[in-house]
Amino acid sequence: MMHFSCDLCGKDLSDQAARYVVKMEAFAATNPAELTDDDLDTDHVEEMAQLLSEIEDGERSAPEELPVCCKKRFDLCLGCYRKFVKDPLGRDTATRFDFSEN
Ligand SMILES: [Zn+2]
Repeated sequence: MMHFSCDLCGKDLSDQAARYVVKMEAFAATNPAELTDDDLDTDHVEEMAQLLSEIEDGERSAPEELPVCCKKRFDLCLGCYRKFVKDPLGRDTATRFDFSEN
């Protein structure tokens, strides 16, 4: 038997009927490999060469490399699933944290 636990609160879900699966897919809306005439403009090439030499000289750090596509799968318990569908990006929680009145 496979073991499942909630990816948010860590609750053991193995013997629970209520297990919810969340699948997330994040990707760039534009294809970065797609070149347009603008990209081939000499100014941009010079800009890029300048940028690359700055990176080589250590004056500038290389841009962070992001995966083009990111797929995740989460197992959630009922309580966490309920919270997730109400606020998938956790914006409510973040706001409440920032503006908590004690
Ligand atoms: Zn949970």
